Amino acid sequence: MNDCLFCKIINGEIPSKKIYEDETVYVFEDIAPAAPIHYLLIPKEHISGASEITAENSAVIAHIFEVIAKLAKDLDLKDGFRVVTNCGPDAGQTVFHLHYHLIAGRKLDIKMA
Ligand code: 5GP
Ligand code: ZN
Repeated sequence: MNDCLFCKIINGEIPSKKIYEDETVYVFEDIAPAAPIHYLLIPKEHISGASEITAENSAVIAHIFEVIAKLAKDLDLKDGFRVVTNCGPDAGQTVFHLHYHLIAGRKLDIKMA
């Protein structure tokens, strides 16, 4: 956990471009954006990925999706947006702190893999 990049971003040990923060969620710009809007939404509690969501820690997941809906309204993303989480090496997860990519601002390719 001490070596977790996103825990260090939450702590401010590593700088990030913050978009939103509350008691349980932190949102910041992806360092390598795939679209004009590419934000990462992360729980402040360290959860290594989607496979580690449990009845005990899942309340923050619902809250993350509330924040996504709020950001979509604030940013006027009426043409749409995409939310993605990669879990494990086959899905290309590179940072093992659960995160949801919020991607928008251009027409996105429709592909599942
Ligand atoms: P994953 O590949 O695990 O689904 O997504 C990890 C994301 O974290 C990538 O889109 C990558 O660009 C982003 N990322 C990696 N290191 C940093 C960093 O130091 N700062 C920020 N803001 N994003 C990062
Ligand atoms: Zn972490």
